[in-house]
Amino acid sequence: MKKKIALVTGICGQDGAYLAELLLKKNYKVIGADRRSSRNNYWRLKKLKILDKIIIEDFELTEITNIFNLFKKYNFDEVYNLAAQSFVKASFSTPINTADVNSLGVLRILEVIRSQNKKIKFFQASTSEMIGNSINKSQNESAKFDPQSPYGASKVFAHQIVKNYRDAYGLHACSAISFNHESPLRGEEFVTKKIIKSLAEIKKKDISSFEIGNLYAKRDWGYAKDYVEAFWKMLQLKNPDDFVIATGKSYTIKHFLDLSLKKLNFRYKWQGKGMSMKCIDLNSKKIIIKINKKYFRPTEVHYLHGDYKKAKKELKWKPKTNLKELIHLMCDFELTNS
Ligand code: NDP
Ligand code: GDP
Repeated sequence: MKKKIALVTGICGQDGAYLAELLLKKNYKVIGADRRSSRNNYWRLKKLKILDKIIIEDFELTEITNIFNLFKKYNFDEVYNLAAQSFVKASFSTPINTADVNSLGVLRILEVIRSQNKKIKFFQASTSEMIGNSINKSQNESAKFDPQSPYGASKVFAHQIVKNYRDAYGLHACSAISFNHESPLRGEEFVTKKIIKSLAEIKKKDISSFEIGNLYAKRDWGYAKDYVEAFWKMLQLKNPDDFVIATGKSYTIKHFLDLSLKKLNFRYKWQGKGMSMKCIDLNSKKIIIKINKKYFRPTEVHYLHGDYKKAKKELKWKPKTNLKELIHLMCDFELTNS
């Protein structure tokens, strides 16, 4: 049987690497697309030992001709758009680029699919940041959107335009509203990786302390490797639809920190409140974590808690990895791989 051809944009990112691994196992020919500036960023693909199994192509979401030519070169069966300016904090300092890449970039791909080959199946990486602060309880596909950042707002446009192209032109196009998902391959600017990497460095005496922002936002954290399975399942459905992908559990950043400190065998205590809160290592009697205002956002999403019932029923998908297991995976990686 002819191999299916999949395009994975954002191949050098966390999800791109895990999705490529999954698609290769399923015998796809994988075209991995990333922009030229990511070229020195192959560490994730190397870690998974798949770099030589993927065809890497130049891809820039802000350049329509670039996208057009790539779609002319290959007869894609499935396209997974994972490329994005994905860091919420950075979207406050680069809002226009964020919108160009995350909103118009998606429309550029949809236009190319619409004009070249409507049979191509298209997956978009939407986000719980679109829901933002709209409701303070479990959030499903019907939750209203109330984004709290240029990132969240840019993803709302992308989400809506994917639905519009599905309805208006009959494209097989869908979006996963994914809640935060982490892994040893997570970018270092995100809070989970930052916490575990910094604590591991303190253990190894490479640094003595680190600073952090808001400890009381709540996130629904899953394991990226579980989530890319849902992405693939979504494109195998006969009728395209949008799904919440989450764990259904929500914890504060402080809880994540406490679990990580315990996993790494720190003896510690918290002292003070608000901006003067600090964490003291009881062995060295030194401060190891301080709060710094610079890590707070101008507007924050306070509570994310996904309801993945629809994915469970229709995709037969559920998360396999709980928060403790995720933290253990990330800590073990940090202690042995760096
Ligand atoms: P990453 O940031 O790890 O990967 C995104 C990739 O997109 C990077 O390799 C980046 O390249 C690339 N990229 C950025 N801008 C462009 C551009 N203009 N043209 C081409 N490529 C570009 O993100 P994740 O793997 O964590 O996330 C995958 C997708 O899922 C993203 O769209 C993200 O917004 C979304 N998402 C992620 C969640 C999560 O918790 N991980 C939750 C919900 C949604 P470079 O390295 O050069 O910046
Ligand atoms: P996000 O949910 O996509 O913004 O993912 P992040 O991992 O960047 O942030 C998750 C939460 O951690 C947000 O509520 C941040 O405000 C909070 N946070 C607290 N301190 C930090 C920090 O030092 N870095 C980051 N990235 N987030 C932090």
